[in-house]
Amino acid sequence: MSAIYEKVALIGLGLIAGSMAHAIRRMDSSVHIAGSARSAETRDIAREIGLCDSVYETSAQAVADADLVVLAVPVGAMEAVAKEIAPHLKPGAVVTDVGSVKAAVISAVAPHIPEGVHFIPAHPLAGTEHSGPRSGFATLFDNRWCLLVPTEGTEPAETDRLARFWRGLGANVDVMEPEHHDLVLAVTSHAPHLIAYTMVGVADDLRRVTDSEVIKYSAAGFRDFTRIAASDPTMWRDVFLNNKAATLEILGRFTEELFALQRAIRTEDGDMLHDYFTRTRAIRRGIIEAGQDTDAPNFGRAPASSAVNPPE
Ligand code: NAP
Repeated sequence: MSAIYEKVALIGLGLIAGSMAHAIRRMDSSVHIAGSARSAETRDIAREIGLCDSVYETSAQAVADADLVVLAVPVGAMEAVAKEIAPHLKPGAVVTDVGSVKAAVISAVAPHIPEGVHFIPAHPLAGTEHSGPRSGFATLFDNRWCLLVPTEGTEPAETDRLARFWRGLGANVDVMEPEHHDLVLAVTSHAPHLIAYTMVGVADDLRRVTDSEVIKYSAAGFRDFTRIAASDPTMWRDVFLNNKAATLEILGRFTEELFALQRAIRTEDGDMLHDYFTRTRAIRRGIIEAGQDTDAPNFGRAPASSAVNPPE
């Protein structure tokens, strides 16, 4: 049986591209994986650990003859990469990306895609707080969702082929509209990350008052915020700058709810608090039933440093 794509070019060699490389090997060892990264250090590490079959200095070199090109760089860098690779893409090739935001990436990349090349944006909902070429692993996408966001005029057969590829990497696949994707992700990922960053910032301000107690007693709940807040600063800066409207909409709603809870505490409205927490507990149960986390003690996570699969 021939490979779904015989040659795959990974542009950017961090957590997501690295995990894709491992998962591609697991799926089909006949696929040729070409890769390129911005820094010589990342390229050297990729060669040392055998992440790709060939590693190139420029993305233009890596995409030559590739059947599938994956843009796996921060959202804010997608346009420059698209511009660079455009003249070197093979006719009939598929270009996809793994960016955490979709509408802004489509506006930035689509105008550069030449006639005869298919552009099918995607977003695997899987990640860890680690980054770089050593952080990837083959099972990252197992039983996680990958959302495909085909652009206008995309041939359904090409979307189906990309869906088959992601299923081969272990993911479940759904198709979504870009604006809807950005709103859903603002709720499930972007706003929670901002809240985690804020909470850790508040704790850091308080550190002077509490000495080392914030760290020492962190298992009381704070620790889970710090894991999310350890995520890559460049990636997250770009996510917020490129999903501005949806994130601000969700943060507005969050602020209203926070005020309602604040008021319930002040007025000692125990019923309100109890009802609220009962509702949220049911949501947690729903996530476990959907197979998107585990019910094991400590959420099934090893001590914070080796945790995997937080909400992307
Ligand atoms: P990562 O581990 O930090 O790797 C990013 C890669 O992009 C590195 O190879 C880096 O090169 C390269 N890069 C950074 N800035 C660049 C620029 N300005 N121009 C060209 N290349 C650049 O990141 P990642 O976690 O794999 O994220 C990659 C993409 O996946 C992002 O768009 C992110 O939104 C999305 N995503 C991330 C997660 C997650 O949880 N991490 C989940 C789903 C989707 P050097 O190493 O040479 O600096």
